Amino acid sequence: MDKKNVTLLGSTGSIGLNTLEVIRRHSDRISVKTLAARKNWKKLEEQVREFNPKLVCLYDEAEADCLRKALKNTSTGVVSGKNGLFETATFSESDTVVSALVGSVGLEPIIAAIDAGKNICLANKETLVVGGKLVMESARKKGIEIIPIDSEHSAIFQCLRENDRRLVKRLILTASGGPFRKLPLNEFSNITPADALKHPNWEMGGKTTIDSATLMNKGLEVIEARWLFNINFERIEVVVHPQSIIHSMVEFVDGSMLAQLGAADMRVPIQYALSYPDRWAATGHRIDLLTIGALTFEEPRQNDFPCLLYAYEAGNRGGTMPCTMNAANEVAVEAFLKEKITFLEIPRIIRNCMDKIPVIDDPTLAQLLENDFQARSLAAKLIP
Ligand code: MG
Repeated sequence: MDKKNVTLLGSTGSIGLNTLEVIRRHSDRISVKTLAARKNWKKLEEQVREFNPKLVCLYDEAEADCLRKALKNTSTGVVSGKNGLFETATFSESDTVVSALVGSVGLEPIIAAIDAGKNICLANKETLVVGGKLVMESARKKGIEIIPIDSEHSAIFQCLRENDRRLVKRLILTASGGPFRKLPLNEFSNITPADALKHPNWEMGGKTTIDSATLMNKGLEVIEARWLFNINFERIEVVVHPQSIIHSMVEFVDGSMLAQLGAADMRVPIQYALSYPDRWAATGHRIDLLTIGALTFEEPRQNDFPCLLYAYEAGNRGGTMPCTMNAANEVAVEAFLKEKITFLEIPRIIRNCMDKIPVIDDPTLAQLLENDFQARSLAAKLIP
């Protein structure tokens, strides 16, 4: 069997570390050619020593200098900045790019990787939220299938496999409801970053965990699903499923529903994306149905967590509006994590940017990047 040669973008974050764990277990099947990370040079150095890639990128220039010094006696090249990210994303010896970057910074490298003919395993949902149309068009032109890593989309992708996509009635994305599923609205003003970072079921990076607490994560996933599965927003629904056992469902025209179940463990969808169309044995955590006992479902509290509604609105409006929403959210979440704004301020900043920034229909990549910059600037001005 030919080995998969992988580029991993975002190797020091939560998805990146889980991806390397999957690769470690299947080192007979996968080899790491390049790694890219934002600024954690010590972690990246450890990864270089273990996985021995040909090239690594550290986005932050100053940190990259530290890494260059640390690796000067090895054969691994070190690049940095946006150009470095492009170099790793398009590295000639890689056939597969896993994007575990967080935020819209992942958009350009993924388009470059698609243009270079790489297979794509995508965990970076913001890429499709901002540039879904461009990304899917590029992939179609190149004949590349984008394999989702996000657990909900992996579930839907698995349920759709043997089925004609024209026979899909609706997609049902499950949501855990986050840490504040039962918190009364009048207590939202007291929420601290530490409270919001306590996710009941999943271990994720800071940004995604805050997005889960505001339900923006599910909103971003609705837009991600729209592009990945080419389906209208009217046929994408969200139900809260607090046990996080069913990772999402597909209903077909005859009323049959297919669901994918499993432990809340990101290594499962990551491994599936890397093994697809095959399945590899794994020894991870398994679910015990008798211990779980019951699976329950409830409606999301959309009025108390308006980010989900904003995502449907932005997705339906299309053009640059999802880009604006996403950029404002990235800025607001970072400010919340630094305790500069309250939890309730996050949706307010997003709403404000969506109302003020004019929408461009069918934007080019350059227009999306300009809009992203504009929305970030406006959001930053709204933060004290
Ligand atoms: Mg998800």
